[in-house]
Amino acid sequence: MKKIGLLVLIALLAAGFFYFDLHQLLTLSGLKSGLVQFEEWRSASPILVGGVFLLMYVLVTALSLPGAAIMTLAAGALFGLGWGLLIVSFASSIGATLAFLVSRYLLQEMVQSKFGDRLAAINQGIEKEGAFYLFTLRLVPVFPFFLINLLMGLTRIRALTFFWVSQLGMFAGTLVYVNAGTQLGQIDSLSGILSPSLLLSFVLLGVFPLVAKKSLNWLKGRRVYAGYSKPKTFDQNMIVIGAGAGGLVSAYIAAAVKAKVTLIEAHKMGGDCLNYGCIPSKALIKSAKVANQIRHAEHYGLQSSEPSFSFKQVMARVQDVVRQVEPHDSVERYTELGVNVVQGYAKLIDPWTVEIQLNEGGTQRMTARSIVLATGARPFVPKLEGLEEVGYLTSDTLWEALSKRDTPPKRLVILGGGPIGCELAQSFARLGSEVIQIERSQRLMAREDEEVSDLAEASLRQDGVSVLTSHTALRCQRDGDVKRIVVAHEGEERAIEFDELICAVGREARLEGYGLENLGIETKGTIVTNDYLETLYPNIYAAGDVAGPYQFTHVAAHQAWYAAVNALFGSLKRFRVDYRVIPWTTFIDPEVARVGLSEQEAKAKGVAYEVVRYGLDDLDRAIADGARTGFVKVLTVPGKDKILGVTIVGEHAGDLLAEFVLAMKHGLGLNKILGTIHTYPTWAEANKYAAGEWKRAHAPAKILSWLEKYHSWRRG
Ligand SMILES: Cc1cc2nc3c(=O)[nH]c(=O)nc-3n(C[C@H](O)[C@H](O)[C@H](O)COP(=O)(O)OP(=O)(O)OC[C@H]3O[C@@H](n4cnc5c(N)ncnc54)[C@H](O)[C@@H]3O)c2cc1C
Repeated sequence: MKKIGLLVLIALLAAGFFYFDLHQLLTLSGLKSGLVQFEEWRSASPILVGGVFLLMYVLVTALSLPGAAIMTLAAGALFGLGWGLLIVSFASSIGATLAFLVSRYLLQEMVQSKFGDRLAAINQGIEKEGAFYLFTLRLVPVFPFFLINLLMGLTRIRALTFFWVSQLGMFAGTLVYVNAGTQLGQIDSLSGILSPSLLLSFVLLGVFPLVAKKSLNWLKGRRVYAGYSKPKTFDQNMIVIGAGAGGLVSAYIAAAVKAKVTLIEAHKMGGDCLNYGCIPSKALIKSAKVANQIRHAEHYGLQSSEPSFSFKQVMARVQDVVRQVEPHDSVERYTELGVNVVQGYAKLIDPWTVEIQLNEGGTQRMTARSIVLATGARPFVPKLEGLEEVGYLTSDTLWEALSKRDTPPKRLVILGGGPIGCELAQSFARLGSEVIQIERSQRLMAREDEEVSDLAEASLRQDGVSVLTSHTALRCQRDGDVKRIVVAHEGEERAIEFDELICAVGREARLEGYGLENLGIETKGTIVTNDYLETLYPNIYAAGDVAGPYQFTHVAAHQAWYAAVNALFGSLKRFRVDYRVIPWTTFIDPEVARVGLSEQEAKAKGVAYEVVRYGLDDLDRAIADGARTGFVKVLTVPGKDKILGVTIVGEHAGDLLAEFVLAMKHGLGLNKILGTIHTYPTWAEANKYAAGEWKRAHAPAKILSWLEKYHSWRRG
């Protein structure tokens, strides 16, 4: 109601402006003809006229009415350079801020809720560089000022910042115009103001922010590198520390574009993903799935039986799989690609020098123009009383530690209900362990929508996992061979006995021991970088788990491209890392795959959305495969064929997701998916049917009713 009132007031004021022909007055000829009269009034009562003029100016700018440029000239003509400048300078900033506030009051909520996701980047930019950005817009009169006022109101810039930056930024332009106004007699048209000398001053004004920015960067650089002496020549174009996904891809790209690159790995080539993460866990998941299918073979018309197997052989297969993938990440392969691979522990000595403790003994120093830090993350181990005494495993240690057992651990506690904890819990349960999974929050995989967590929990329970959500681990105890973990749930404590405990409560970036501290490279859980993945030192980059914010192999590889290209070609062109379309999958059974927004995220961010859902119980292939659990859920912009996010739960969900990832990346909508032939009978058809659900929900009712009439008429 208040908003409507304000709108009516603005409309009345604007109508009055035109009704009383004030717009005629605010033209160059109008101003010139009335100048003598104005001057008389001004000499009679200068303060009153000055005040009225200021108010009028505020009103014109606040209402975004045409005529501010003429009024600026008039200020020069009437009040002279000093007073004219003072009046206009304040009046324009006050008016601009009022317009800004009105736009914010009337529209910000609506715009942010409709376009919140797309505005996120702008909001972030405004948060970081808003003042400078606005200053540039004010100084370089490329966009009309009234538009800047209204648009800025829709962002999250603070009103006070908007006021003072506008005041400062418009000062130079105001000076030029007020000065021109003092010679109003000689100016015949607005374009007359743009004489060659005035034009030159505008060009200078335009170039100024860019020059200022470059100079600031240059100064910042000098400050950061002060105290270090830059080598005159470098041994390498790029040094990469860490040969996980992030490091391998960075080195690969550098070698592909013929740069001289050294890749340093302290431990195992391939990093976590190959040796302790994605690959061994997926190999274990497959064995566990087969065991489960044997156990439930009656679902397929076969005879069920308890799978008999040697756990040692399952773990041996896991290692065999790792060995089969190993050549992709091997020293030999990378050497062949042109990368100099050094096996040893690297430490930053200065912004260009790295010292390596060679695995074979001795040290080596080398310099590079750029360095990429891809040192990864390690399992986070909570500070739990008694944990060290009872002993624990992590994803780093479990593969080796359990490899010699003939049977899986009898009673296995898994701490953590995130993706890694869920994958391990289900696998070990299917292989015969009594798994107790402890999670502090109310549900598993809390990053996903509640219905996804519910489905995940149901399938884990079905496989025999005791899922203890809302349970907090308090301490561990050991009595001889008996190991216990004490948990709290709704105010009550309970001790759970176990044989092995796996910590899967998250992973922390590796930040110590290799020189970040000495160089003062800032860390906040991960290495702090800018949008180009540059650290404090613009020639040192970070990629992968150590840089965050995601912890996936494919994101590490994605970041590696930006780190390598910016490191090698940044002086020509730099690229901002693009996180707009990031997919991921949790490989429990049924798989959970997601790209873009979930419903809970859309709600939290205030993004308006519509949702369609296609249940896999309806899909012919899912029925044939006996795997009908799950759904494809698509969030779209209301009334528009634009995908905001997709969650798929089901067999092969990770693979199904790829079609939506492609669609989102390239701006394709559901109509395009619906119009694409999908082989029958495949799982991929689920995507098409989800698109079909959307289409049905947006059927043009009016046209269809006309068509019905048309067909009825055709029938005669
Ligand atoms: C159980 C588990 C399952 C996972 N499953 C998946 C999955 O299915 N899909 C997925 O996308 N992701 C998965 N991940 C995550 C994935 O493994 C990581 O995101 C990925 O390995 C990150 O790669 P990175 O290059 O950043 O780091 P890493 O792979 O950790 O590599 C960093 C390397 O740097 C080396 N290093 C560190 N410091 C130095 C130094 N000073 N000098 C020399 N070398 C150094 C380390 O030895 C290490 O080899 C899983 C992780 C785990 C633990």
